[in-house]
This record gives sequence, structure tokens and C-alpha cells, in this order.
Amino acid sequence: MTQQIAILGATGSIGTSTLDILNKHKDKFSVYALSGFSRLDRLFELCQQFLPKRVAVAQKEVDAFTTRLQDAGLKIEVVGGQTGLKDIASDSQVDTVVASIVGSAGLESTLAAAQAGKRILLANKEALVMAGELMMSAARHANATLLPVDSEHNAIFQSLPQAVQQHSENIHNIDYGIRQLWLTASGGPFLHSDFKQMQMATVEQAVAHPNWSMGQKISVDSATMMNKGLELIEACHLFNLPEDKIKVVMHPQSIIHSLVEYVDGSILSQMGSPDMRTPIAHCLAYPQRIESGVQRLDLYKMSQLEFLEPDLQKFACLRLARQAMQAGSWANISLNASNEVAVDAFLQKQIRLTDIANINELVLEAMSTNANSANTINSLQQILLVDGSARQAAQMAINRLSLK
Ligand code: NAD
Ligand code: MG
Repeated sequence: MTQQIAILGATGSIGTSTLDILNKHKDKFSVYALSGFSRLDRLFELCQQFLPKRVAVAQKEVDAFTTRLQDAGLKIEVVGGQTGLKDIASDSQVDTVVASIVGSAGLESTLAAAQAGKRILLANKEALVMAGELMMSAARHANATLLPVDSEHNAIFQSLPQAVQQHSENIHNIDYGIRQLWLTASGGPFLHSDFKQMQMATVEQAVAHPNWSMGQKISVDSATMMNKGLELIEACHLFNLPEDKIKVVMHPQSIIHSLVEYVDGSILSQMGSPDMRTPIAHCLAYPQRIESGVQRLDLYKMSQLEFLEPDLQKFACLRLARQAMQAGSWANISLNASNEVAVDAFLQKQIRLTDIANINELVLEAMSTNANSANTINSLQQILLVDGSARQAAQMAINRLSLK
């Protein structure tokens, strides 16, 4: 039997890398469902190539896309909107859900996959930042398997004892001697720039990552290091650790993808070319291994691996993420929402790159005044409420900036 796969966010960077691997292993995997949002021509091509049973698009596109598929002689069911995505994520025919929608738009379907007990390949880090407790407890209750696609978390996962990977043992079990985790960060395009240069950065400069080719939002997040901040929060939830047990180290070459430090002084890590097909292939085949098509590392040609301390003044978003994780769920949700709105405004050239951190900080302050004492927000409804207020606060901050 082949594993039936649903790829939510199939037209994006992670979706494309995933399909590339599936294409190499048709004996092991079948593409059961796909989703797309704005790039419908691309989605149509994928439908022709992979012949999924179901496909999800935005609600307003359902009729036109259905007609388009029918006209091409393709019998594929089209579903729409968040309801359609959730329906696919919990479809009884689906074994594995690749959660690769960007941002909060992926939250509900990822949660639905967890509640339905699926094997989840989690790329959509924002879902875990917004709903860490809810997602992890849903996964536990429904016996879902969460496998981290994010390269850093995947590297940590690979470097942990097998019993901890499979949740048969707790990461805090003293016998395993885990002292702390290290997340590596490339530093993005502005690692060696000063603050002024970062302030003047164009959209084109900000999305030009030196090592990784990724979607626009995560590329901007890498430039501000908000990405590492989101990953810090993601790691706290995935590995059930407080933020002070997770260090961040700059590693410009992106060869070591993260590390686990043990009490005896050992540090275990995973290395590889910076290509998302490695962690995706690892998750698809886990606990086995399959070919990914990734260029192999030539150790003879690797002359240096550097490690540096992050500059938290220049990369204020990373500092804010630690603060948010300490403050509680409301702050994580607010920071993520604010950041999504601010990144969007930057991409639309309304604000400067360095304004993103300022807006995020203002929103965290504004939201702290009406944060309720409930540190743990554990319903989707509450999460969406906080998300909505933070988005409003961010939009107000952007409007004020744009007026100046
Ligand atoms: P991308 O922009 O290339 O693709 C995003 C996908 O989400 C597309 O398929 C798009 O159709 C879909 N989408 C966007 N808005 C939507 C909406 N409102 N409703 C439904 N679908 C919507 O992004 P990406 O780089 O592939 O990143 C996807 C996720 O994976 C992000 O959460 C990112 O942080 C994470 N991630 C990406 C990488 C990478 O190398 N690209 C690495 C680690 C983690
Ligand atoms: Mg990452």
C-alpha cells in the first residue's frame, strides 16, 4: 500500500520540494490531495501531472476551477476555503498531511489534521506559534505524529534519542542527559550589514537569501531574524522545553542545521546541503530513509564553519520572540499576527524593513494591557480573537508610520 499524501500549500516552495520527492518514489507514495491559493495555473499543472482525487482552492474559485478541470477531462473533486482545507486534512483516505501553507492561513487545517490523528509533516511554523498548546494536546489525544520539516527542528529531532523522538520517553528524563538545544541561524542577507543599511533595504534585497530559496514571507522573516524567533517558539512547543533551554547561534554557512547538547559535553547535530528536500524526505520516510535528490555535501570542499553570537540590537525580532514566549500564549499569537501584517506592509513598500520590529514591539505592548491572566489560551476561538486584535493594532501602527 502506498502512503496517501495531502499537500496543503502545494504550489509553494515547500510544496514544490515535496512533490519533487514524491515523484521519485511513486512506489511508496500517492498524491491524494493538493491545495493552492493564488497560483492557480500552477495548481492546474500539478493536477494534470499528479492526478489527485481532491483539490482545495479559495471558495470564490471553486466553480471556475471545477470547470477548468472538467474541460481538461480531469475527474478531481474541488473543495473551497478553510472548510475545504479542513475537510482534506481530516479525510479518512489521507495518511499524511504536509502542512505547508504559509502563515495563519494554515492554522485550522493543521489543527484539523492533528485532531484527526494524521501523520503531519509540519512546515507551517506559524500554526504552532499561534496554537502550540492546542496543537500539541490535540496531537497527543488523537495519536497524531508531528514530524518537523523546518530544517532546524528536523535536525534537532534527528539528534535526539529515538525514545524521545517517538514520545515513548520524556525529553526531561534525566537519563537522557539533554542539557539544551542550539538553533542555528544563517543571519540572512544582512548578517554583515549595519543597521542603517538594513533600514534602507529594498524588498528585492530582503528576499534574496544567501543560502536558501524560499517563499517571500519566510525570506523577509529571515532578513529580520523573526524567522529564528518563530522557530524558537516552535521549538519550545515541539520539544516541550522553556525558552532558556534553547540557544540561538549564527552559522552563516547553513551546513549544520541545529544541535542538541548533552550533559557529558557531547553535542550532536545534523549536517547537509541547505536544501529542504532533505528534511522533507526524512519526514516522509521516517523512520526509514529515502533518496531526496539533494546535492551531497563535499566535506573536502568545506573549508570553514563559523559560529557567532546573534546581535539582538540589530535583530530585535529575536529578542521580542523570547519575551513573547516568556509572557505566554497571548504574546506569541500577537507577535505572529503583528509580524504577518508588518511583513505584508513591507512587501507592499509601505514601511521599511526595520519598522517590522518596531511595529511588533508596539503591538506586544498594546496587547499586554488587555492580556488576560490566562497564560494558556486553549480554544481556536480565543486564538482567533487575540489574532484579530493584534492585526488591528499592527495596522494602526502602520498607518501612523505611513503618515509620517
Ligand atoms: P510559499 O509562499 O512559497 O507557499 C505558500 C503556500 O501557501 C502556497 O501554496 C499558497 O498557495 C498557500 N497559501 C498562501 N496563502 C494562503 C491562504 N490564505 N489560504 C490558503 N493557502 C494559502 O511559502 P513556503 O516558503 O513554501 O513556506 C510555507 C511554510 O513553510 C511557511 O510556514 C514557512 O515558514 C515554512 N517553511 C518554509 C521553508 C522554505 O524553505 N521555504 C523552510 C522552513 C519552513
Ligand atoms: Mg528553518
